[in-house]
Amino acid sequence: MKNLSKLYINGQWEDWSGDTLNVYEAATGEVMAKVPAAGRSDMERAIEAAHNAFESWSETSLDERLKILKQLLDGLKERAPEIAETVSREVGMPAKLAGQIQAGMPIVTTKSYLELLPEFQFSEQVGNSEVQYTPVGVVGCITPWNYPLHQVMLKVVPAMAAGCTVVLKPSEIAPGSAFILSEILDATDLPKGVFNMVCGLGQEVGDTLIKHPQVSMVSFTGSTRTGHLIAHAAADDFKRYALEMGGKSASVVLPDADLKAAVKGTINNCLLNSGQTCTALTRMLVPAEKHDEACELAAEAVAKMTPGNPLEETTRLGPLASAQQRDKVFEYIRLGIEEGATLVAGGAEAPEGLDKGYFVKATVFGNVKPDSRIAQEEIFGPVLCVIPYNDEAEAVKIANGTAYGLSGAVWSGDADKAKKIAGKLRTGQVFVNGGAFNPQAPFGGFGHSGVGREFGKWGLEEFLEVRSLQL
Ligand code: NAD
Repeated sequence: MKNLSKLYINGQWEDWSGDTLNVYEAATGEVMAKVPAAGRSDMERAIEAAHNAFESWSETSLDERLKILKQLLDGLKERAPEIAETVSREVGMPAKLAGQIQAGMPIVTTKSYLELLPEFQFSEQVGNSEVQYTPVGVVGCITPWNYPLHQVMLKVVPAMAAGCTVVLKPSEIAPGSAFILSEILDATDLPKGVFNMVCGLGQEVGDTLIKHPQVSMVSFTGSTRTGHLIAHAAADDFKRYALEMGGKSASVVLPDADLKAAVKGTINNCLLNSGQTCTALTRMLVPAEKHDEACELAAEAVAKMTPGNPLEETTRLGPLASAQQRDKVFEYIRLGIEEGATLVAGGAEAPEGLDKGYFVKATVFGNVKPDSRIAQEEIFGPVLCVIPYNDEAEAVKIANGTAYGLSGAVWSGDADKAKKIAGKLRTGQVFVNGGAFNPQAPFGGFGHSGVGREFGKWGLEEFLEVRSLQL
């Protein structure tokens, strides 16, 4: 990365004067980079550039947009190792996994829109009307730190493919990959002003972005708290918004399930990226008579998750992304003990020998009460709550008994039964007996987990207004 101290505005790397923000290496706690804490006037310049570029970009041919996406795809592939290492150091995900997911998913997303775009119907005839799907305008994209480039790509790629222009405000905690993306796009034939990137604090440049009259839509991924602020700001100006927020997803293990496979699948999902995953299966619902056995299996599975430096091959569990996040998770673990849950594995301390950096032991609580705070609130760390239930109806009630509704899982020896229970879960996606993640399928949440959908045609439609011409 050559341009970490600059902002990308109107097709140029711009110098800017002001404070800088430290980016910390998750495994050591040391400063690994300094990036701009841009000011409101910098953000206003970027919005102006996106506004000026909109009319002409919105009228470009599909071929032109496909050409740029192809160039973007080539750039992402070329710089994949650098992306994986950057994210791994910022966020703490083990490097091998970061290569597959943090650098891999941006490639998958770009490919998927390259395939989808030529097939998408941007107009259709309904009676005497031509219904047109037309780009919404300037889109403000605001993203978090846990899958930093993946979350950016799910917004930037379909927005530009739809004909929108973009101002990206990446996470200030893990911004490196957004700089790499800006460099990749700078090397393509993308016209100036279509993509802009301003790094800074949410309450400064993020706030300017969500309130600016020239921004037609805000696409956000992050906490429910910030999502709330965005929905309020958008309401004042009737802006469109799409929100991908938190979760407290349930893994429902039915009595006839293969318990070992279900526990292993749930733990792997829950601990992915050290639990810093919005869809993490953080509540495992098990039949009361199988509770103790499930806890033993969970403790065994957790013991195999060797914690360590994410850049080392053998590491399966990395640190969290920030000291603040680690301290928040420690607080929740102490709270779980206070609330009377049984500490089966882990605890509010770093694994032995890993007191530098932001490490937390993989932690499992048993006998968790469904309405306790550790079972209701998003912890965003490597913490699993095992909750016993007495019958199927109670399991469904507990699964649906939080404000969230992002993801879930059902495990059963009977595929039809699993599907039936999956249909009762009030969430945007459900994994049945370990079904694979599908990047063609819609992704998003019910309730406090979100508004709108990403991935596939649903992700593209978010950035399109519908109008009809009566002919
Ligand atoms: P956050 O809400 O603190 O920050 C997200 C982004 O919003 C950052 O870029 C931040 O600078 C910006 N921001 C903060 N305050 C703002 C304001 N007042 N105005 C405008 N922008 C502002 O979230 P985080 O801590 O970075 O991310 C973790 C959260 O994200 C978790 O709760 C997690 O569940 C959620 N998340 C959801 C999904 C999903 O797809 N549903 C995916 C990943 C993460």
